[in-house]
Amino acid sequence: MAEDEARNYTSYTFGDTEFIVPSRYIELSARGTGAQGMVCAAYDTVTQQNVAIKKLSRPFQNVTHAKRAYREFKLMKLVNHKNIIGLLNAFTPQRTLEEFQDVYLVMELMDANLCQVIQMDLDHERMSYLLYQMLCGIKHLHSAGIIHRDLKPSNIVVKSDCTLKILDFGLARTAGTTFMMTPYVVTRYYRAPEVILGMGYKENVDIWSVGCIMGEMIRGGVLFPGTDHIDQWNKIIEQLGTPSQSFMQRLQPTVRNYVENRPRYQGYSFDRLFPDVLFPSDSSEHNRLKASQARDLLSKMLVVDPEHRISVDQALLHSYIYVWYDESEVNAVSIKPAPGPYDHSVDEREHTVEQWKELIYQEVVDYEGRNHVEQEQPR
Ligand code: AMP
Repeated sequence: MAEDEARNYTSYTFGDTEFIVPSRYIELSARGTGAQGMVCAAYDTVTQQNVAIKKLSRPFQNVTHAKRAYREFKLMKLVNHKNIIGLLNAFTPQRTLEEFQDVYLVMELMDANLCQVIQMDLDHERMSYLLYQMLCGIKHLHSAGIIHRDLKPSNIVVKSDCTLKILDFGLARTAGTTFMMTPYVVTRYYRAPEVILGMGYKENVDIWSVGCIMGEMIRGGVLFPGTDHIDQWNKIIEQLGTPSQSFMQRLQPTVRNYVENRPRYQGYSFDRLFPDVLFPSDSSEHNRLKASQARDLLSKMLVVDPEHRISVDQALLHSYIYVWYDESEVNAVSIKPAPGPYDHSVDEREHTVEQWKELIYQEVVDYEGRNHVEQEQPR
């Protein structure tokens, strides 16, 4: 730990990663690493709360990283819902564009990601509450025009009181075309058939991912652990069956050719895929009812053809979920007005690495400036 007296920044080292943070943040400890960099837990002496600090290391190092960082930062500022991670602060320790290296995002601190929770034996109360919150967060994203398409347990975090927040904003509209140069392995197990097969999509593309997460909570293992898109498609149809002709007709010719030439599968009933023994074991009448409701919901979410898959609104009204229904959470009345629609031109923008560097730097400096003014103003 070394203190930079002049600017009041302190440096911490975790393995190969250095965190340089304003001295208001103390007691840093490493929490996790994602595709973009490392996350630390810390205590904020100004607001007197625990926070998570995520370091985006040289986010402009290539175009894919840059676009993702820029988009995430913009969206975090835009969105405001208790089931989506909120931005508390953002800074860069470097003071000029020439020196600019890293962006740090400060967020609310949560206890664990969903990968850890899935391993646990969850009762129906907890399982349905977690699913309800995912659906509320997703609905809020949709209301801002953001369709996630890449929800997965590592990007969902929870607290021990069972509250849940979605950590990221998924794929940009143009994400499929960019090449990611990172040693970090991208998890695709939760991606919907329409994403895997490169079809058009609508909001209920995110329901598939919720179905995969719910199924994994019940089964205790990943439902469709494909090594690549082709293997994953095989895992899906082996379990759920070959989709109908009307689905095939909506595929691009080359994909359709592949999909139609796969062996035909009948698929299994949901009673076989998720037998009674997998559900919370308490054998009271109440829990048997819950198990059949849970299975019914799964059978409506894990539907290959999005035209026949349940919508987010329908899922929120399903008897397994509806027990938690609260209008102010579902329809996201928040301090900030309902989010203005996200400007999707960001997703389509093409810039050089140097231009991205400048754009990201400007966003962070603007944020720091605005926050500074807000803090100085008398209340
Ligand atoms: P990310 O880089 O956003 O994918 O985050 C990587 C990992 O860091 C997540 O899977 C979590 O385990 C952890 N993490 C990220 N943000 C938080 C947070 N706000 N609170 C607690 N843990 C977090």
